[in-house]
Amino acid sequence: MYGLLIGPATRRQAIFAGLCALAILLTLALAAPRARDALPAIGPFMPMCALTVFTTSCIAAFMLGARFAATRLPMLGALGGAYAFTAIAVALQLLMFPGVFTRAGLLGAGPHSAAWMWVFWHAGFPALVIVAELVRSRAPDDPPAAPGLAGLGARAWLLLAGPAVLAAALGVLVVHVDLVAPWRASGTAAAPMPPASMTANATGLVVCALNAVAIAVVLLKGRLRLVLDWWIAVALLASLVDAALNTLSVERFTLGWYVARLFSMFAPGVLVCVLVWEVTALYRQLSEAHASLIQTSAHDALTRVYNRSYFDEQFHREFERAARGAQPLSLVMIDVDHFKLYNDAYGHLHGDACLSAVAEALALTLRPGDFVARYGGEEFALVLPGTHADEACAVAERARAAVAQLAIPAPAGRVTVSAGCATSGPGAPDVADGPAASTAPHALIAAADAALYAAKRAGRNRVARAGESVT
Ligand code: GH3
Ligand code: MG
Ligand code: MG
Repeated sequence: MYGLLIGPATRRQAIFAGLCALAILLTLALAAPRARDALPAIGPFMPMCALTVFTTSCIAAFMLGARFAATRLPMLGALGGAYAFTAIAVALQLLMFPGVFTRAGLLGAGPHSAAWMWVFWHAGFPALVIVAELVRSRAPDDPPAAPGLAGLGARAWLLLAGPAVLAAALGVLVVHVDLVAPWRASGTAAAPMPPASMTANATGLVVCALNAVAIAVVLLKGRLRLVLDWWIAVALLASLVDAALNTLSVERFTLGWYVARLFSMFAPGVLVCVLVWEVTALYRQLSEAHASLIQTSAHDALTRVYNRSYFDEQFHREFERAARGAQPLSLVMIDVDHFKLYNDAYGHLHGDACLSAVAEALALTLRPGDFVARYGGEEFALVLPGTHADEACAVAERARAAVAQLAIPAPAGRVTVSAGCATSGPGAPDVADGPAASTAPHALIAAADAALYAAKRAGRNRVARAGESVT
């Protein structure tokens, strides 16, 4: 099942995503001139942001991976991989960050380890989105008929899990290899993140450029046709602004630094929101499809009244309910007279139209709580809960008259029906005496059927009551 995320974007979705992109750019325009303005220091802000990025990236990776397993679209696997990379990279950066868990940072981190993890995180995500775009035009490895992770090929696992392994490998690299500082030192070992002058910093500019290239690739390859194209572009824009503000601001706890942290949370967060929205929309579609399936499965395709299987189920239910409540239940079996002759004279297509008209006329005679079903061929059943025999015969007579009033021409005048009524419950000992006998519903049907054939024998176009002779 190909869902909404990889379906075409509607105008409204495109406008919403476009407005988000505009808001991001506007924020950049407002924040950039004051990026270096110092704000009050909130120590837990960075760990809180990193934890949020880790959690939302894990959710995005998991949900994209699940969509990949269901659709086998390599692009979804690769995007899941990009978020898995982000999750591992940000987790390692947090663990290595000086002053968060220990003074020097965990995992044997050196003075530049956390800064390099930041660089790899912000460069790796757009690079992996570019990879996702490069595999987007490839057909699924396997047909999506057999979803699940078990059947995924090695290349698929490479797309999904490879980036997470890569992030871990980069973590080992930054700890064990003495890399030069990614930007000019800020002067304190406890604050290696902010650059001294990022405007002139090549690393920051490379990261920004990679994000810009990734946006261009998404625009060129996807042309913003799919919902996913829009939101990946918005996520990349947030990532670009995050990198740009980090590049502009000098120290921690500046306006640029705070806003950059917010955008670092926005990049995976926006995808999670879209994925959750998609699941909600799919759930709604599924429940609508289920309701329509239930509706279709209970109705006869030709006459649109209830079908035989609905009758079988519901009639037994009504019978038991009536027996429990010691209430009467009436059944009227109706059969179109000389319908074979009608078909022979006018053809089966006219015969079908005639049956539909008869069914509609029967349905219009029902009272609330009654129902009509096509019992088979040109036979219909009216089920009348809480209805005594006299009342049932009156309903049957109204139904017979309604069909006659249609005045549908027939070989022998006009189309008519014959009806047989039978009633169970109080005052109807001739048919069924309650729930004791398991065959009781069938006995009621047999009695109504017998009455119907009595009406036929008596000359048709009439109503007969079970156990009574018809004139
Ligand atoms: P009677 O008055 O005794 O009921 O005579 P009859 O001709 O109606 O009864 P019979 O059982 O001999 O014929 C029933 C006919 O109903 C035969 C069959 O072709 C026709 N029929 C059953 N289902 C359909 C249907 O879905 N469409 C059409 N056009 N005809 C149908
Ligand atoms: Mg008939
Ligand atoms: Mg018949």
